[in-house]
Formats: sequence, structure tokens, C-alpha cells
Amino acid sequence: MEEQYGRGLEAARRFYLPRVLGLALGFIAVAAVFLANAAHPLAWIALALHGFVWPHAAFIISRRSADPYRSELRNLGFDSGLAGVWIVLMGANLLPSALLVAMLAMDKLSVRGWRFMCQCLGIQAGAALLAALVFGFDFRPETSFTQILACLPLLALYPLVVGWTAFSFARRIADHNRLLATLSRTDGLSGLPTRAYWEEVVRTEFDRYQRHRRDVCLLMIDIDHFKIVNDTWGHPCGDEVIRNIARILREAVRVKDTLGRYGGEEFGIVLPETTVDAALVVAERIRIMVASAVLEKKAGVRATVSIGLACATPDMMHYGEWIEHADRALYRAKLTGRNRTEIEHRPAHDAAD
Ligand code: GH3
Ligand code: MG
Ligand code: MG
Repeated sequence: MEEQYGRGLEAARRFYLPRVLGLALGFIAVAAVFLANAAHPLAWIALALHGFVWPHAAFIISRRSADPYRSELRNLGFDSGLAGVWIVLMGANLLPSALLVAMLAMDKLSVRGWRFMCQCLGIQAGAALLAALVFGFDFRPETSFTQILACLPLLALYPLVVGWTAFSFARRIADHNRLLATLSRTDGLSGLPTRAYWEEVVRTEFDRYQRHRRDVCLLMIDIDHFKIVNDTWGHPCGDEVIRNIARILREAVRVKDTLGRYGGEEFGIVLPETTVDAALVVAERIRIMVASAVLEKKAGVRATVSIGLACATPDMMHYGEWIEHADRALYRAKLTGRNRTEIEHRPAHDAAD
């Protein structure tokens, strides 16, 4: 409910300046006709109120409303209705009348689409009919040169303001969507990419390897005896260890390498354009950095990691096989004493291709 209120309020703010400007410029266009037709003083007062007081009143009304968005839609309908009255009082003077209909239809379209535009056109036609019944209708369609001049500011400036408002709004939505996409592929605890996103990268790199056969390696990293960390110091401490290991991993790799949190206390790294020897250097650097770091300051927790390394090889048919190879190497590292790196399936360059 509060979120809906916030969004409505934001809409009211978004419409405020275009309305202030549009109605002030609309006043000039209609006033030129009123001047020539010697309009009734009450018509002048109403026009001035609509042009200069209403935009601020509309904003205050929406801000105070429990549902500012609905209130703004009503205000927009009210603008259209009053424009219908001005058209009748101008004797349907052709240029300003056409301009009022077109400009108001344009902003309705940009706010809420065709349906809303048609509804507002209906309100405008109804209000015009009512005004014609109450005040009479003196049809005077000719537009003088002065009246044409008075229409130009509205004609030239209002579309720019409406266009800019719509563009800024669309850009904000696009930024927002980008942020959501980033958040949805980021693991909340470690700040690393999620498994789903990371596996996508593994798949892409595997496809690239199949096309170009350029060395690419995979590391699977698992924290040793992590259950003991949790059991001894508690889960929050374990979480801090995961966060710190993620930080070390980020420091240890290059920009083009992709890290991911593969599971609870298991991480993966794709190393493009990397030979098995270079990948081994990276793996060992990570292993030593973790082993020598204090991973949780309060309790002085230390831990080690085991690492499985596998390069993509021509006999692999699917990226899943590549991950399996790295996992097998990791398993061997665990079996052979932990805190070590094992390599699976050294690619035999001479035999392949
Ligand atoms: P090994 O050396 O064989 O890998 O031993 P291990 O104890 O690390 O292995 P195991 O896979 O049995 O235990 C992993 C533990 O990690 C179990 C699980 O409770 C813990 N864990 C998984 N995700 C999280 C997490 O997000 N936070 C914390 N604190 N613990 C986690
Ligand atoms: Mg473990
Ligand atoms: Mg594990």
C-alpha cells in the first residue's frame, strides 16, 4: 500500500512541471482568442485559475490523496474536460482548438496509452457539449495571425517537455531493470555471481573453446572441514569466513575470469585464455592466500581450501563434463589430504587436433 502511495506520488511529481508549463502556454493560446472575442470576465478568471493556480492545486490534491496515482488520473481527465470548455468558449477557433485536443491527447497517450487517451477525449467531448448547452456556441473557426503566434509557444515547447519527461522515465525504468538483473544474478552472502549465472558463463566459455580451441581452465574450490567451523564458532562466523574467502578470490583473479558461488562453501572460477600451468599458479596463489589469512577476526578463525583444476579438452561433449572433471580433481584433493590442488585430465596438445 505504502509502495503504491510512493509510486503515485512520484507520478504526481513527474506530471507537475509539464502541467505548469503546458497550462501556462495553453493560457496564452486561449487568451489571444478571448481577447479578440471580448470574452466574459468570469471566463477570463476561470481561464487564469486553470492556467496558473490549478497546476499547483492539482499537485497538492494528489499529494494529500490516499491514492495519488488515481488522483493524478482524475486531474488529467479534469484538464481534458476544461479544455473542452475553452474550445466552446473560443467558438472552436481552429488552430488553438486543434492544438488543445492534440496536445492533451499526446500527454494522455504518453501517460497511460490509447484507452486512457480515448477516455479523456470522451470527457473532453462531453464537457464541450455541456458548455455549449450552458453558454451557447458561437462558431468562429478563423484563426488570425496574432492567434497563430500565440499558439506557437505551446506548439513548440510542450511536445519537448512531454517527450523529455517520457524519455527520463523510460531511462529510469531501464536503469532499475538493469539493477534488478544484477541483483538476481548476485549471491547475497558472498556478493559473487550465483551458480545459475556462473554456469551460463561456463557454458559460453565451453562453446567458445569448441570453436577456437584456445586454452580455458576451470577451478572448483571447496573449504576444508567447514562443518567444524560452523559447529565450533557458529553459523554467523561461518558466513563471515565465506565472505572473506570470496573477497580473497576476487583479489586473486583477473578481470576476465568469472567467479561464482557454486554451492554452500564451494566456489568455481572460469579462467579464459589460460593454460593448465598458468591456472595451477592461480590455484596455488588462492590456496596459499586463504591458508595464510585470518578469516574471522573475533575468533581468529583460519581455514584452508582444496582445489580441483580441469582444462577444457577436445573429448568433452558438454560443459557439464568439464565441471565434473574439475569436481573429480577436487574430490582427489580432499582424499589426498586437503589444502592442495589437484589437476584432472591434463590436455594432451600433441595428441589432439
Ligand atoms: P570437506 O573438507 O570434506 O569439504 O568438509 P566440510 O565440512 O567442508 O564438508 P561438508 O560439505 O560436509 O560441509 C559443508 C558445510 O557447509 C555444511 C553446511 O552447513 C555449511 N554451509 C553451507 N552453506 C553455508 C552458508 O551459507 N553459511 C554457513 N555458515 N555454512 C554453510
Ligand atoms: Mg567443504
Ligand atoms: Mg562442500
